[in-house]
Amino acid sequence: MREFHRRIYNFCAGPAMLPTPVMEKAASEFLNYRASGMSIMEDSHRGKLFGEVLDEALSLLRELLYVPENYEVAFFSGGATLHFSAIPLNLLKEGESADYSITGIWAKKAMEEALRYNPVQKIYDGDSHHYTEVPRLTDANINETASYVYITSNNTLLGSRYPIIPEFTKTPLVADMTSEILSRKIDISRFGIIFAGAQKNIGPSGLSVLIIRKDLIGRSGRAIPLLMDYGLTIKNKSMYNTPPTYSIYMAKLVFEWLKQKGGIEAIERENEEKAKLLYDYLDSSSLYGAPVKKPYRSTMNAVFTLKDKSLEAKFVEKAEEQGLHGLEGHRLVGGLRASIYNSMPKEGILALIEFMKEFEASV
Ligand SMILES: *Cc1c(COP(=O)(O)O)cnc(C)c1O
Repeated sequence: MREFHRRIYNFCAGPAMLPTPVMEKAASEFLNYRASGMSIMEDSHRGKLFGEVLDEALSLLRELLYVPENYEVAFFSGGATLHFSAIPLNLLKEGESADYSITGIWAKKAMEEALRYNPVQKIYDGDSHHYTEVPRLTDANINETASYVYITSNNTLLGSRYPIIPEFTKTPLVADMTSEILSRKIDISRFGIIFAGAQKNIGPSGLSVLIIRKDLIGRSGRAIPLLMDYGLTIKNKSMYNTPPTYSIYMAKLVFEWLKQKGGIEAIERENEEKAKLLYDYLDSSSLYGAPVKKPYRSTMNAVFTLKDKSLEAKFVEKAEEQGLHGLEGHRLVGGLRASIYNSMPKEGILALIEFMKEFEASV
């Protein structure tokens, strides 16, 4: 393995790179948090220090995303996948149905899991056009009987997203926003539930966040495993059991960093600019191509291909040598992918484009 004496640009889909100032802050507080003589990791979750961290983290998340009063916000341990099971169990009574829009592999997995508990239905599948676009869903596309409509707002593996978040008159919208939460301004009031694993835009893996409209809490009335029970977790302020304290502390640092940068509006502008630089280059090149149709392209995960597929392995190897890490596509999809989350600086995009130009000239 190559050794680096600097931080590299990590284009991995997740766990992803975190902002260097956040890592530096965490390092500086690691052994002795605010003159307590211990790490925040070593503090009791019922202690005053951690209590403040948790309160701060929850209120910063609310503030950054403009979460309205009639929504609750909570942390869970178990990642995004936990919610694939928790959503149907918390929202659906026995026998009730929900609609799933399959725009990629994560939506498919979520639906397969829900099917173990309830007769949920597929209302869209992008497979006929290889998931290069995303539907415009309205009331006309959904079932009367659906208790919620489920979407993956940004498709991490395939590099697409909903450019416009669907809006339904009555039916609550449930969204997995793992790979784009906090990257663009969204109207929370359009959603019944938003959830996200932390390891793409928030912090360490294994942690997830939930935003839920209050009237949906306890809807199913079912027996739900304790740690998946949204009502129980919220009632206990994300601390029914010992929460992942250090991960929540890291999330708080990321939220502070984001606020200091100017919040969601500032990061959205930056993300648009970064993505445009990369896609413009891909579209102008004769060696590379971007398969997702323009209106649906993700600003977080840029999927691309080489016209000559046999050069892919060499591309990845050369990029790794230069400290451009994790550019191979997902094992199920192939091709190449640059994940350019909030933490990826513009300099990282410029370094990648520079490398791609050199590679194109060398083959
Ligand atoms: C990464 C990812 C997941 C899986 O997250 P885990 O925390 O590993 O469960 C689910 N959905 C989307 C959209 C993702 O990007």
